[in-house]
Amino acid sequence: MKFDPASNIQHLKQFGEFGDVNPSITDSSTYTFLKAGDMEETFLGHTEGCFLYSRHWNPTNKYLADALAAMEDTESAWITASGMAAITCSLLQICSAGDHIITSVTTYGGTYAFLKNYLPKFNIEVSFVDIANLKQVENAIKPNTKVIYTESVTNPLLQVSDIPELAKIAHRNNALLMVDNTFTPMIMSPARLGADIVVYSMTKFINGKNDCVAGAICGSRQFIDDLSNVNNGTAMLLGPVLDPLRSSSILKNLHTLHLRIRQHSKNAMFLAQELSQAGLKLSYPGLENHPQHELHKSLMNEEYGFGGMLAIDFGTVAKANQVMQKMQLADVGYLAVSLGYFKTLFSCSGKSTSSEIPDSVQQQMGLSQGLVRFSVGLDNDISDGLNSILRICREEGVIG
Ligand SMILES: *Cc1c(COP(=O)(O)O)cnc(C)c1O
Repeated sequence: MKFDPASNIQHLKQFGEFGDVNPSITDSSTYTFLKAGDMEETFLGHTEGCFLYSRHWNPTNKYLADALAAMEDTESAWITASGMAAITCSLLQICSAGDHIITSVTTYGGTYAFLKNYLPKFNIEVSFVDIANLKQVENAIKPNTKVIYTESVTNPLLQVSDIPELAKIAHRNNALLMVDNTFTPMIMSPARLGADIVVYSMTKFINGKNDCVAGAICGSRQFIDDLSNVNNGTAMLLGPVLDPLRSSSILKNLHTLHLRIRQHSKNAMFLAQELSQAGLKLSYPGLENHPQHELHKSLMNEEYGFGGMLAIDFGTVAKANQVMQKMQLADVGYLAVSLGYFKTLFSCSGKSTSSEIPDSVQQQMGLSQGLVRFSVGLDNDISDGLNSILRICREEGVIG
């Protein structure tokens, strides 16, 4: 049967304490107990439906976590105060000193910096591979490999990860597959494809308003319970909990995610087709010339399209900057980092969100200095944007 993440969220029955159509917002950090014994049991993690302290769990975050678990078809989920908190807590929960991680070399810049510069402090070893080359992934496996880490569609090069095959490699070697699905919520359901842990920056498409930073971890009940364990859970002990006020607003935005994703995808596909036809060097998984177009098709849930992200190579930083400034003046969108917003956002990846990656490595992984990443907005009529981009590219001599 077809998997339908949007209906899974829609069918949840989440009410407030007076039958409010939106769940109540917890305005408390602590909770009373009528019986002292109940508090003791809750500390031991034995009581369902009791809350102890809002860094551990709070009811508002639980509603949002339940909705995300329904969307991903995982047993459980946990809400964090940022996408980086979701990624770092999950990796630190799984890995101890002496362990080994295999990661895609093309990842979000912050993730790359954590893996490259931060984890060595704990003697956790990391191998960076071309995630589209399964042989290379397999060859990187060591006896102490605990995790294979990737993004469903990688930032900023838009490589598509073969999640089912990566899961097989991980599981054959007693390792876990962890997938950052920030670029493709609803479009891909990594847990259904074999991933053990799915992480999100909810800052992006899921919230879609660029009004806050937030993240989420989806996985088995055991993994989420371990993360929030009062004695040794990484999320509980490092404490990156999201404020319940924000959680409640993200939950409301989650209910329109399916509509937004379809419009992002529709606009991105239109721009990708028209701009590549005009001769721009463009990467979009929805185009047949994308190296993993067929793979993307075989992994995606129907009806959500190929996502809102596309990348155009303008050759040099100078040219990219010139084009971006003109696009902003022509109201194509904003020259800004981040993604999943209702306005189109664009930035030169090598000098912004991937600037943590050294120039030589950027070159190796095929990240051109002039690569501009677009997060295509929800424009009701994107043809205005298209015409402006075409005019600017002609003016700048990027196309004839
Ligand atoms: C933004 C982003 C992150 C980091 O999330 P924050 O919410 O900024 O901490 C991680 N992965 C990807 C793919 C991102 O785009």
